[in-house]
Amino acid sequence: MTNSDLKLFVEFLLNKNYTIHSPVRKNGKIVIREITDSRKFSLIKERPLYSFKNFLLPDKKTLFSTTSDENKNGNDQKLIRKQVLFGITVFDLRAVSLLSQIFEKDPYFQDIISMTLFIGQSPIPEENSFYEKYEENILEHFKFDIFIESRGDQKDFRIFTGSKHGQKMLNEFGYDDFEHIEYAGAVPEEGLSDFHKKLKEKTKLSYGSKIWKDLGKKCLGCDKCTIVCPTCFCFKIYDENNIFNDSIARVRQWDSCFNSEFSEIAGGTKFLKTMEDRIYNWYSHKFVRIPDEYNLPGCVGCGRCADVCPAGINIKDEIFKIMKFKAKKPIAKMSKFKSKTLKKPRTKKLIYEKPI
Ligand code: SF4
Ligand code: SF4
Repeated sequence: MTNSDLKLFVEFLLNKNYTIHSPVRKNGKIVIREITDSRKFSLIKERPLYSFKNFLLPDKKTLFSTTSDENKNGNDQKLIRKQVLFGITVFDLRAVSLLSQIFEKDPYFQDIISMTLFIGQSPIPEENSFYEKYEENILEHFKFDIFIESRGDQKDFRIFTGSKHGQKMLNEFGYDDFEHIEYAGAVPEEGLSDFHKKLKEKTKLSYGSKIWKDLGKKCLGCDKCTIVCPTCFCFKIYDENNIFNDSIARVRQWDSCFNSEFSEIAGGTKFLKTMEDRIYNWYSHKFVRIPDEYNLPGCVGCGRCADVCPAGINIKDEIFKIMKFKAKKPIAKMSKFKSKTLKKPRTKKLIYEKPI
């Protein structure tokens, strides 16, 4: 497909009443904007500052609202518009695969997904990105409708389809020079890569080490990394009350584990008291708990968190340190500690206290 064919395809989608979101260059930055004029469209291959997360998992969503007269479901299909995420790179497609598993039973997320046409593209290497070398065979693990591949100076794009919906759109547009890729599930047959298995173990092992103490001193807890991260999905739920018209709305809003209130429970106890606790929690969620639960890494390696961090924390460097980590205190020492505590069985004390 040529560049001018792409513009015509954008025109075709606009005529089909799709709202198209795509990366554009604005004031020297790559941001995602609505495309309304196909003549001005060009495929930007650089990674946008933000991911497409907001179009699938809005930063603030009313789940339902009610007054004494009527109930409104925030999931009303009529409120969800058909949309195209045009030019979503493999990093963000990988993040969508993960979010789709995490929100598998969430009707709000799934309804938006069902109204979304995903048009992916191959990435170009970015300064802070890592892991993902684009190879055609990784596409079978991503959910997409259409994929645009370009390599080097190549002028024409190679087109793949990943769904019947994508095929139908191209057929209606009058284009059939594409190859179809059958979806083989988000998790590759071999499961987690050796790299991620090792990273998982090292992250657990390094708990309490200098890596986290140093990061705890450096991190400002500003949340910027969690906002731009395509896989961060934590949220809070609260009610918005309006005493003047007796209405109430239950709202779901993005939250961040870097906020000091994030882990607070009734009575004021906080599970993540220090910045060191919070930043360790962030990494261990991505590299230990999500892989344990979904067999996928919780970080797709887009590098956005490093781009925006005001403290200069670069996740790529931190992963390098974690992978190099060697425990000074071997596991054997921990068992010694355990056996020491076992030498004083509480039952013995109880026996002495028992009145005869
Ligand atoms: S962007 Fe940097 S300073 Fe801000 S919370 Fe994230 S790691 Fe900490
Ligand atoms: S943790 Fe950083 S590199 Fe990993 S997916 Fe999130 S923003 Fe991208």
